[in-house]
Amino acid sequence: MSADRTNLLGLPRADLEAFVAERLGAKPFRARQLMKWIYRRGVADFAAMSDLARDFRERLAEVAQIEVPQIVAEQRSADGTRKWLLRMDRVQGIETVYIPEPDRGTLCISSQVGCAMDCSFCATAQQGFNRNLSVAEIVGQVWLAHRELAGAQRITNIVLMGMGEPLANYRNVVPAMRIFLDDLGYDLSRRRVTLSTSGLVPQIHKLAEECNVALAVSLHAPNDELRDRLVPINRRHPIDELLAACWHYIDRQNGRSVTFEYVMLDGINDRPEHARQLARLLRGRPAKLNLIPFNPFPGTQYRRSPDPVILRFRDLLNEHGVIATIRRTRGDDIDAACGQLAGQVEDRTMVRLGSRLGAGPRAAAGAA
Ligand code: SAH
Repeated sequence: MSADRTNLLGLPRADLEAFVAERLGAKPFRARQLMKWIYRRGVADFAAMSDLARDFRERLAEVAQIEVPQIVAEQRSADGTRKWLLRMDRVQGIETVYIPEPDRGTLCISSQVGCAMDCSFCATAQQGFNRNLSVAEIVGQVWLAHRELAGAQRITNIVLMGMGEPLANYRNVVPAMRIFLDDLGYDLSRRRVTLSTSGLVPQIHKLAEECNVALAVSLHAPNDELRDRLVPINRRHPIDELLAACWHYIDRQNGRSVTFEYVMLDGINDRPEHARQLARLLRGRPAKLNLIPFNPFPGTQYRRSPDPVILRFRDLLNEHGVIATIRRTRGDDIDAACGQLAGQVEDRTMVRLGSRLGAGPRAAAGAA
């Protein structure tokens, strides 16, 4: 029965070594051979692993398996972006996106079925939250994309910018990232694996001690009053606390800079005064700003800032000493752009985070 067999996909190297030693009495180098087959060659069938002894392969098949998520649907954008809907169980589905560029291939993966962070401008938030993905389900997205791209295109970068808040699934996201970095796994350098968070401060501090990857932070507003409304977690961890965690992260990891994401919402956070406030927060710090033109989705109240406004906003930041770039919209014709991923989520949240945290201390202070 497959339920009795251990899924080897996503097992950290030390755990895989322990598994082959304890269950099969094999030496650690067998685990290393297995990893090469699974990740580099993308093989899931033990019988095809030709440099392993036949009886080892047979015993392996009795106690272990390599179980990958199932692809339900694929869409291709006119710009070459590909989006896969993956089945996680009977009802749930998540999305994974591959974005080809001339000099790189970026895979955008999900960390949860839905998301509980309740950001008001994000389609995933509208779906609610169901559950965390397992390590195998996170790594499985890369395994599948690698197979589908079939050597014709390469995955040079992995970004945890799909559905979900990766730091809310810390326990499974960190081992998955270790596979991305492992030279027997996907062998990516730490600058090519990016974790994006809405700002879970305690977990940023924890990550600083435990795993070395590039950090992106969804800032979206230059003051707490506005950020409280757009990103509800700000009511628990306001901007000064969040930025302190970011600078600490860079110090601890000897990193270059944090990328701050800033969605451009027409008439909401796109005024020159906002750019100047942002510059005061970030000038002289190891920070880059990535402006994301808002991607609309059904039912949203927001609109994208007009192009000239976005350009002016970027120029103002640059003039004030902050490096800012504009993220090129990719895959929006197949709803694969930032904030458009929706998958198939059965919401299990009883109360949305925004209402759980109330209007926030600043709104309360303002009302008093
Ligand atoms: N939960 C993580 C990972 C999501 S990354 C995080 O919040 O960082 C996806 C990025 O796209 C985030 O910066 C997110 O805030 C942004 N985003 C969400 N909805 C968007 C939309 N409709 N248009 C453009 N960007 C959006």
